[in-house]
Amino acid sequence: MKIAILTSGGDSAGMNAAVRAIVKCGILKGCEMWIVREGYEGLVRGNDDGGEKAGQKVNDEAEKLVEAELREKRNEITQEPDKNLLHNLRFGDGELLRDGTSEYVGGRTLKGRYIVRVGWDDVRGWFSEGGTLIGTARCAAFRTREGRAAAALNLIKEGIDALVVCGGDGSLTGADLFRSEWPSLIQDLHSQKLITSAQLEAHAHLKLVGLVGSIDNDMSMTDMTIGAPTALQRICEAIDNINSTAYSHSRAFVLEVMGRDCGWLALMAGIAGGADFTFIPEKPPTTMPWEDAMCAEIHRHRAVGKRKTIVIVAEGARDRELNPIRAEYIKDILTDRLGLDTRVTTLGHTQRGGRPCALDRILPTLQGVEAVDALLSATPETPTYMIGVQENKITRVPLMDAVKATRAVGQAMNDKEFEKALDLRGPEFMEMLLGFRAVSSLKDESEKLPANKRLRLGIIHMGAPAGGMNAATRSAVRYCIKQGHIPLAVHNGFRGLLDDNVDQPSWLGVDAWMSRGGSELGTNRTLPSVDLGGVAAKFQQFQFDAVMIIGGFEAFNSLLILDEARKYYPAFHIPMVHLPATISNNVPMTEYSLGSDTSLNALVDACDAIKQSASASRDRVFVVETQGGKCGYIATMGALALGASLVYTPEGGISLDTLRRDVKFLRTRYMLDTPGKSEGRLVIRSEAASSVYTTSVLTKMFVEEGGSLFDARSASLGHTLQGGVPSPIDRSRASRLALRCMSFIEEHHEKLSQKPHKARQAGPETAAVITIQEGDVKWVPVQEMVKHADMANRRGRTNWWAFVTDLVEQLAGKPQFLGAK
Ligand code: ATP
Repeated sequence: MKIAILTSGGDSAGMNAAVRAIVKCGILKGCEMWIVREGYEGLVRGNDDGGEKAGQKVNDEAEKLVEAELREKRNEITQEPDKNLLHNLRFGDGELLRDGTSEYVGGRTLKGRYIVRVGWDDVRGWFSEGGTLIGTARCAAFRTREGRAAAALNLIKEGIDALVVCGGDGSLTGADLFRSEWPSLIQDLHSQKLITSAQLEAHAHLKLVGLVGSIDNDMSMTDMTIGAPTALQRICEAIDNINSTAYSHSRAFVLEVMGRDCGWLALMAGIAGGADFTFIPEKPPTTMPWEDAMCAEIHRHRAVGKRKTIVIVAEGARDRELNPIRAEYIKDILTDRLGLDTRVTTLGHTQRGGRPCALDRILPTLQGVEAVDALLSATPETPTYMIGVQENKITRVPLMDAVKATRAVGQAMNDKEFEKALDLRGPEFMEMLLGFRAVSSLKDESEKLPANKRLRLGIIHMGAPAGGMNAATRSAVRYCIKQGHIPLAVHNGFRGLLDDNVDQPSWLGVDAWMSRGGSELGTNRTLPSVDLGGVAAKFQQFQFDAVMIIGGFEAFNSLLILDEARKYYPAFHIPMVHLPATISNNVPMTEYSLGSDTSLNALVDACDAIKQSASASRDRVFVVETQGGKCGYIATMGALALGASLVYTPEGGISLDTLRRDVKFLRTRYMLDTPGKSEGRLVIRSEAASSVYTTSVLTKMFVEEGGSLFDARSASLGHTLQGGVPSPIDRSRASRLALRCMSFIEEHHEKLSQKPHKARQAGPETAAVITIQEGDVKWVPVQEMVKHADMANRRGRTNWWAFVTDLVEQLAGKPQFLGAK
């Protein structure tokens, strides 16, 4: 199969990762890979005749070149690599594309050629670049039948029979139309004698798959669009920066963020940035006049001593009559009515730019792999699929269903049916919206729960710090205050509890915690078993009605110990929850723990810098050691996000046989690099992958075996992986899960308090861990959890990400370069 890829509409971070994955995966499956530059514009323009011939020449020359290089090296390669891979190693166009030129470069030209063949090495290192290296455009011609006929002809001329389109709903609508029209388009081309009967027959159907590239996260039937997490990261960086200056001058800031028809970015930024107020298109203010409601809320914040105010407005925000709500207008209101020194910041295109975050490398890679599979299994009868992600699974959904559902949201808003629009956005969106309200608004006494439903909640951090611990605590504290509960912060874990190191945090006191890394409460690894009787006495002394433990495996262990001790201590007969937070992501049964996204981003940032240094010194292998205890999650997902050549995990271990193969693979790989153009390569090694083959041993071995081909260095990232500022994904997840914990606690507290005090026996279901399984939040009693835990190795018995290790090696070409097909 000959597959072409194009990016269309607005660019978004992660598009390059998708293109890279599709190119590599296509080649692995025996396809010939092509790239269409400048979106549909390139498809319509195609390759002019001279260009086409020149293109063919370039392709032929590239093949000859690699052949010649290989002939020289063949003696040194002990095992013959996969023929298809060698044939597809490089065509040089990737390099031209990367140089960002469409003109003459290095003796070759891309001018007049919009559809170019690419090979394995041409897409190397594309991960870390923002935007789209193959160009994108808006193309009026493709909206016409003539334009689409020209596009069809250009594809047929190159013999291409499958297309991947990465873009927004407009681009995908165009793609679907193109595919449905294809049979009639080619009939026309045939009757105009522009294609032969043989071509007509060979290209009877176009195989097509869509990927959603859009920073707005506005597409229905997928949880996340390519580029949305990075855009959110950019916005949160801006808010964090603005926060400090706003605080210094006691100012108000109105931030306008992108989102014409979708408030996802504004809402998530509101949560993750700890904003005071947000305006989104799906939920115009209900209290009218909204200006009064906004001023009243912000006045309450200022009245408790808040020095800064952040209001976030989506560019498409409007009131219930569809009148736009503009940042400048909000600024005037805040200045005139509240006397606040207010500034407007419009983030604009900075939101699009920059290096993709870890999630925008991982998801597009997995989606790219799925896109190739979908093309290979496509038949004339199968619908055009859109590849998305739902509940942590990569999915295929009929493209037009997704586009229709997306349009329905827009239509509902235009019809002023806002409840319907919110409904169509899905329950998680609604949960986020309610969550934002719960932690950002200050209620007065009359709105709180009746006295008999109020409770005293102890919050404890356990184990190593992880991004999101503070954000979760902030949300729990604020929710408690909103409801009339009493939050009690236990400092320094169970040791602190035994030392009476407990206080009552205030609404304002936790204000800045959203963006703070580490643990504001202080944490250690001391388990409650250090003095169970003492801990029970403290539970009684502080009259805890419920406890929330935020942490990793120790937190899980602590909950287990407390649950088992219920036999002896009535003080533990209260709802107790564990909210997993650990960079290792080693808590059983949950797909994500707080902190793991922050940590992956820290790894990606550090390795991007290391890779640059490795590339500068050419032929260098960097062995990077990651934390993670006996769990290889960070190492494996990091390797996928970085395009590492090899990954070593505690689960997989390291043996002499693997090392022998790995050295051979690296030697083959460096041998096949264009002379003088070798790049740095990364090897990721989890700290506990082997006690014998340490990072230092591996590095020395690579130096020795690399000989004149490559050199090696090591870097141990250690505690940098605990991350500085938590990622927006961790912050918003922390807030969502903390609020879920609160409703669990309230529910069980209410049930328990209906029983007489002396007879209160909390069932096993009241000591539970909040987990994410296939995207759903599920409660698992801690006793049940034990069955799924490998207690000796402090990790789950199974990991959902196990398949990724193989994928990393496939995408590095290890099995193929070693000749084992
Ligand atoms: P973004 O979300 O960034 O706006 P988009 O893909 O929705 O991305 P559009 O400008 O709507 O951006 O579409 C990009 C290109 O897709 C258009 O310039 C046009 O070439 C093609 N296109 C869009 N809609 C159609 C359509 N209905 N028929 C044919 N082609 C279309």
